[in-house]
Amino acid sequence: MELRLINKDQNEPQKIIQVGNVKFGGEELVIIAGPCAVENRKQIFSSAEVVKIAGGHILRGGAFKPRTSPYSFQGLGEEGLELLKEAGEYHQLPVISEVMDTREVEVISQYVDIIQIGARNMQNYSLLREVGKTNKPVMLKRGMSATVEDWLLAAEYIAAEGNLDIILCERGIRTFETYTRNTMDIAVIPIVKNLTSLPIVVDPSHGTGRRELVAPLSKAAIAAGADGIMMEIHPNPCEALSDGPQSLEFEDFKELVREMKALNSFVKIN
Ligand code: PEP
Ligand code: MN
Repeated sequence: MELRLINKDQNEPQKIIQVGNVKFGGEELVIIAGPCAVENRKQIFSSAEVVKIAGGHILRGGAFKPRTSPYSFQGLGEEGLELLKEAGEYHQLPVISEVMDTREVEVISQYVDIIQIGARNMQNYSLLREVGKTNKPVMLKRGMSATVEDWLLAAEYIAAEGNLDIILCERGIRTFETYTRNTMDIAVIPIVKNLTSLPIVVDPSHGTGRRELVAPLSKAAIAAGADGIMMEIHPNPCEALSDGPQSLEFEDFKELVREMKALNSFVKIN
């Protein structure tokens, strides 16, 4: 595979991507959390508060949602971005949200600190080029049927336009297994670390689709060298408009953050 811009030359140090005070690729594990979708003011503000109190770093929340069915909740659009930004500013957390369309890149850039490219758009090359022209860090999720090569070459598209602030995100791939929503590829963490200088975040919420698997898979990802974990949380997962079954309750999230931080210091120091 021909990587020209995101490849790792021998002995090259890990690239650090700084977003506000948060550093991807440093010693500290970056924790990104929030609801799948921004639903209303109360929901996003209470989520932001718990991310902050727990010691998380970045607030997530979808405003333009890529739903499998056109009849499912599609997100609040720009109103969702406004609420996300307000909640992030109030609790001093940078925010991340997904862009689905080249026509939305400009508006999303006005509200977020990190632009997310979702799994379904990983090979939308016009969109990759468009975010590559911005000066915002981009989180590139792995497509659900993308090989490592497909994924890293997609990152090259962004880099080729001049934007080298790319954070990779493993979110599970489709396999024959149906018990889980996707199969989390833990091996890809050291693979990506060997091939590129980019930081890698793991999303065990979409990676498993099951709340009870989020904690063990987060820990497995940390042990394998992940730079960050992104997960979905919700004040009342049973009533979530999207991805309730994989969203953590606030109390469980707080406990998991404590455990992840302890594990990360063990892994990074030893
Ligand atoms: C998300 O993180 O909101 C999302 C839709 O995830 P994915 O693109 O990995 O399915
Ligand atoms: Mn989701």
